[in-house]
Amino acid sequence: VNPVFCKVALDTPLRRCFDYLPPRDAAAPVPGARVLVPFGRQQLVGVVTALADSSDLPVEKLRQVLRVLDATPLLSAADLALLEWAAAYYHHPIGSVFATALPKLLRDGRDPGSPQVFWSITAAGRVWLQDPKSLRAKRQHELLQWLAARDACDEEDLAELLPGWREPARALLAKGFVATTSRQRDVSAPVISAATAGPRLDPDQANAVTAVTNALGQFAAFLLDGVTGSGKTEVYLQLVETVLARGESVLVLCPEIGLAPQLVERFAKRFATPIAALHSGMTDRERLGVWHDAAVGRARILIGTRSAVFTPLPRLGLVIVDEEHDASYKQQEGGFRYSARDLALLRAQQVGVPIVLGSATPSFESLHNVATAKFMPLLLTRRAGNAQPPRLSLVDLRAHAVHKGLSIPLLQAMDRHLAAGAQVLLFINRRGYAPTLICNTCGWIAPCHACDARMTVHQKSQRLSCHHCGAEEKLPERCARCGYEVRPLGHGTERVEETLVERFPGFAIERFDRDKLRQQSQLEGAIDRVHSGEARILVGTQMLTKGHHFPEVALVGVLNADQSLFSTDFRAAERLAQTIVQVAGRAGRADRVGDVLIQTQYPEHPLLQSLLNEGYGGFAAQALVERNTAHWPPYSRLALLRASGVQPDAAIQFLQQAKLLMENPDGVTLQGPIPAAMVRKAGRYYAQLLVESAQRLRLQKYLAEWIEKVEQLPSARKVRWALDVDPLDVF
Ligand SMILES: [Zn+2]
Ligand SMILES: [Zn+2]
Repeated sequence: VNPVFCKVALDTPLRRCFDYLPPRDAAAPVPGARVLVPFGRQQLVGVVTALADSSDLPVEKLRQVLRVLDATPLLSAADLALLEWAAAYYHHPIGSVFATALPKLLRDGRDPGSPQVFWSITAAGRVWLQDPKSLRAKRQHELLQWLAARDACDEEDLAELLPGWREPARALLAKGFVATTSRQRDVSAPVISAATAGPRLDPDQANAVTAVTNALGQFAAFLLDGVTGSGKTEVYLQLVETVLARGESVLVLCPEIGLAPQLVERFAKRFATPIAALHSGMTDRERLGVWHDAAVGRARILIGTRSAVFTPLPRLGLVIVDEEHDASYKQQEGGFRYSARDLALLRAQQVGVPIVLGSATPSFESLHNVATAKFMPLLLTRRAGNAQPPRLSLVDLRAHAVHKGLSIPLLQAMDRHLAAGAQVLLFINRRGYAPTLICNTCGWIAPCHACDARMTVHQKSQRLSCHHCGAEEKLPERCARCGYEVRPLGHGTERVEETLVERFPGFAIERFDRDKLRQQSQLEGAIDRVHSGEARILVGTQMLTKGHHFPEVALVGVLNADQSLFSTDFRAAERLAQTIVQVAGRAGRADRVGDVLIQTQYPEHPLLQSLLNEGYGGFAAQALVERNTAHWPPYSRLALLRASGVQPDAAIQFLQQAKLLMENPDGVTLQGPIPAAMVRKAGRYYAQLLVESAQRLRLQKYLAEWIEKVEQLPSARKVRWALDVDPLDVF
């Protein structure tokens, strides 16, 4: 009998799988199953990617699998293929890619179907909790109080949320103040009862639903291009209904944790079937539970943010990527910098099912894919109830007086709309009180000591904070250099709010930014106050531009559009246009045309002009011509080798050596290395090397060969580096 070799993906920095022999007394594991293997002196959990009949190493050098953890594979052949493709395309170690795809508890070797143990407080426990003497056993009291506030608590949640809980729990159990129950995981088939009927579709929506429905069972990519309020979600819902009726499941990706609950709610209202919702704000236990529900087919609808793209779903029938232009689909930190949108496309292609990418402001990549007939466009032109699109106009800041960041025309428009009973929304992409603290006398500006950046003033908390590294210090009253008075310069959300309180007394103001709304529940509270009409003026950052629709908002003010107009990043214009159109889309309803006022020092700027005169579509068409001329994506392919070091020159030196490894490559250009836009950040010095090619395959071939050499460089060990394929921020 020929020996069988197991190829195992292990979370190590090496770019390959490791060969093992099957366990001595058991059958070889199946591909997709987890195994426990010896690795050096450690034992690691890995995933078998394949069985082979040969190995590069002699048999006597190979070690045996210690234990097979899954009798049935955790990942299907299609799941394995997706992860292998991702490792190859992003040139990232395969074991680390697998680690990204699996919930932590599975990486730790946990059995996904093992019974859950729940702890709860007993009646005697509640009595004891009221006894002041219970306070003496501090940790027992704390745990009991915690359990008293909840139904039943899962062991793994407890371990994560209350570290060291087990000791007091044992003492409480002995006294009969707590009880445990064990529950087998539910793997029963889902009940899919009739969905509540959806509303009648308008002709555009009906066309979109028909086009995608006709494509079910095969790969096809659709760009659902619809203005805010045109009913994209209704199209999704109708499609999902059809897919569920076929006995298939649906993967829905959404950009932010903040938006997932809204979407889940819409789906839950419509479908009487379990929905798996996966996002970054969950405990490990919850994550495992949701993963398991999806993987065994108990939940046929999976709604999740970025990493949900890797979750197994049996009988996948449709993939939906909502707000496909959103930058949060791209992992921009760490080593594995994947795009969930692009991987979703690949997944749909590999499985052979349609994918719908939805947006009111499609990414240029997607528009290009429509132009080259790779995507089929589905246009939704009508806003709900035939609402008119908002009127965009510019306020020339050079020609009008400005009161603390708010121009007179904007203030007058606010007066008018507020008097008419409408709500007003002001967008400013800057949180805090002011972006700068400056000395009146000598011109000193409060710097971050770890970054090439200024400290932002936070008046309410009386702190200076760096928005790049998180450094904080007390707000100084005097200049650090000359000792005279300092003052905040410029405007952030906090300062605009202060101005509004003075200028519009009697109108309730709701501020939307990360400082004010730290938790999901706070965000939901704020949104409720807007919907109820209690809040009259909304002021906030990017947070306001996403997802939420505020029909009573009749006026939108964009306070500082200018900072993006002259950015060196080739994507800056695309992003600014998306932001303006998205924030403008928050306004308006059927019987009233919304007004959007954009304050700018550069009203003649071509970007603003084309956006105003031709809308997002016209703007994009023009900007794509420029991209083509300059050979930027989507007309070329990019990768960025990013590096940082503690020494000022370490990153540049490493990148210079990396550049010399393979000179004059065929059809590939290396540009740089250059220092990053912000050279020093959190005490490290950043630089980058741009790799560009007109052809994807050329670039891929080059990177595969090059990166193996790059990681052999001695200087690679002195820096942190990462390869970013299809980077979003280039400068
Ligand atoms: Zn000074
Ligand atoms: Zn800093």
